[in-house]
Amino acid sequence: MKILCPFCGSKRRVNLKRTLGLGDWLKALICALFLMLVFFRGFDGRVFLLFIFLVAVGELFVRLRWRLGLLCAQCGFDPLIYQRSPEKAAVRVRDHLERRKNDPRAAFLPPLNLPVRRVERKNPDRAWAAPSPPPQPKSVPPAPPQTPRAGPLEVAAAPAPAPAPLENH
Ligand SMILES: [Zn+2]
Repeated sequence: MKILCPFCGSKRRVNLKRTLGLGDWLKALICALFLMLVFFRGFDGRVFLLFIFLVAVGELFVRLRWRLGLLCAQCGFDPLIYQRSPEKAAVRVRDHLERRKNDPRAAFLPPLNLPVRRVERKNPDRAWAAPSPPPQPKSVPPAPPQTPRAGPLEVAAAPAPAPAPLENH
């Protein structure tokens, strides 16, 4: 399955299978029986040990593949660590990006699409640091009163006044 890294946006393929399925257990059993026939030339009780060994190795492989597949190779973002502690995930990403910056091979890697954090300046004393719009004059003469005149578009959009109901007694 192809996914996008939530941090840098790079595409990668992950395997979402976390554990062995029934088919894998059957394959391990068949493999253990085959090895038993090859090595012991008949039924031997050690086939159960062999079966458990094969299942354990397969389980370890599948879990490692799943766990390492979650880690982004481009930016080092780990969603599992981010779920537990976003600060730790941020430290790991920072370390990874630092190593990547110092690695000369990184010049041949595709550029990262890293998110940009925009900081709003709320402190008016530091307004000089950011370009600000020209100041507005404080004494604005009041606008002369105008009679409400609707433009041609407003006339077309305005609903026609309902006729007054006639009262005939
Ligand atoms: Zn990433």
